[in-house]
Amino acid sequence: MITIDKVSKHYGNFQVLTDCSTHVNKGEVVVVCGPSGSGKSTLIKCVNGLEPFQQGDIHVNGTSVGAAKTNLSKLRAHVGMVFQHFELFPHMTIRDNLTLAQVKVLKRDKDEAAEKGLYFLDRVGLKAHAHKFPGQLSGGQQQRVAIARALAMDPICMLFDEPTSALDPEMINEVLDVMTELAQEGMTMMCVTHEMGFAKRVAHRVIFMDHGKIVEDDSKEAFFANPRSERAQQFLAKIL
Ligand code: ADP
Ligand code: MG
Repeated sequence: MITIDKVSKHYGNFQVLTDCSTHVNKGEVVVVCGPSGSGKSTLIKCVNGLEPFQQGDIHVNGTSVGAAKTNLSKLRAHVGMVFQHFELFPHMTIRDNLTLAQVKVLKRDKDEAAEKGLYFLDRVGLKAHAHKFPGQLSGGQQQRVAIARALAMDPICMLFDEPTSALDPEMINEVLDVMTELAQEGMTMMCVTHEMGFAKRVAHRVIFMDHGKIVEDDSKEAFFANPRSERAQQFLAKIL
């Protein structure tokens, strides 16, 4: 579903990604971890073309992200992305937040979009909150709305960039539970997260990044039992 092939990226003379290659199969959950500044966000943003890269290429469901002729807006419409900060529109109700992109980007009929939005809002356990504004919900609830909003676009895969790291501890699990359910339903997912409990339960593979390089890319069993690099061993020792 996602193939990352020898991707390198620099800002001026700062090399942020060096020769990164990996893949995510259909239905697979891949967790990306690594120290702050190691390039995790940059890599995941490259996947849906939110960050350009100078070398290599990425294919999502066969579409080249790097090719000049690729319509990135069209690609992004079907690649769900959930960020650390929920990025809901504060002046719009939850219902309208869920409907907007469906109507604008997918040209769905308004009623159909609203119905679909409510369906996914129900799936994340928040149907009763449709009339509220984002500011009236907790951080965990807002993040669940952000996930529902992405799902309403019928994504072929989902990208998560530290979706729980801005949340109070008691709200982390409600978001991870939604992500776990999605994974169990077979959604293809690439998740930047330091929630190693989630990785242990849900991931198929774990990627560890350091200084812009993918230094480990292994099954979760192998990664947790015996990380190969010293850097990953130190990292795990600190957060487990
Ligand atoms: P992570 O998500 O692993 O914390 P990032 O992908 O956000 O790492 O950043 C990787 C590196 O790239 C960091 O050193 C960061 O300072 C740098 N970086 C990110 N965005 C920019 C930018 N727009 N210009 C220059 N450097 C950047
Ligand atoms: Mg980041």
